[in-house]
Amino acid sequence: KEREVINFDEIIGDIKTRLYWLIKQNNCDFNTFVNVPVSIKTDKTRLTQIIENLISNALKYYDSTKAFSFVKCDIFIDKNDFTIIIEDNGIGISKKFHNEVFEMFKRFHPHLSEGSGLGLALVKKHVEFLKGTINFVSSSHGSTFKITLPLSTLI
Ligand code: ATP
Ligand code: MG
Repeated sequence: KEREVINFDEIIGDIKTRLYWLIKQNNCDFNTFVNVPVSIKTDKTRLTQIIENLISNALKYYDSTKAFSFVKCDIFIDKNDFTIIIEDNGIGISKKFHNEVFEMFKRFHPHLSEGSGLGLALVKKHVEFLKGTINFVSSSHGSTFKITLPLSTLI
């Protein structure tokens, strides 16, 4: 029941529909690049939640003092890994909080947007379930989250 063939263009399309107003709000330059030549039969719910949480964060925590905002989502196969990279030029996360980023209920810009502080904790749980890894870099220039999931557990 958990595993079904995944069409990433469809998943991204659905995410864009649900996040329509978030994409509109800051006039963000939002681009997605999907290059997944093999059909992956896996857990659509978890993959959708991973991608949607990271994209919604990238959109929510934009920097209104910058001349323009962008969010870039790359989904591709790299060697034996399935890779998701979400990059933004938003407000970033202060270095002193980097060790708390995946903890539940932690929010570092509560004034900027609504949220419960659960998105990244859930993403991390899902990545662990799928035996993958998640890394990020974040500064006042923006943030990049990178997830790699071994194809062996996905296909
Ligand atoms: P929820 O996702 O539950 O709606 P949330 O977005 O506040 O709420 P998380 O997704 O777990 O919670 O993120 C935790 C905090 O990390 C955010 O409140 C925000 O301060 C910071 N954060 C996450 N992603 C980014 C990002 N791309 N740029 C800047 N800050 C971020
Ligand atoms: Mg979030």
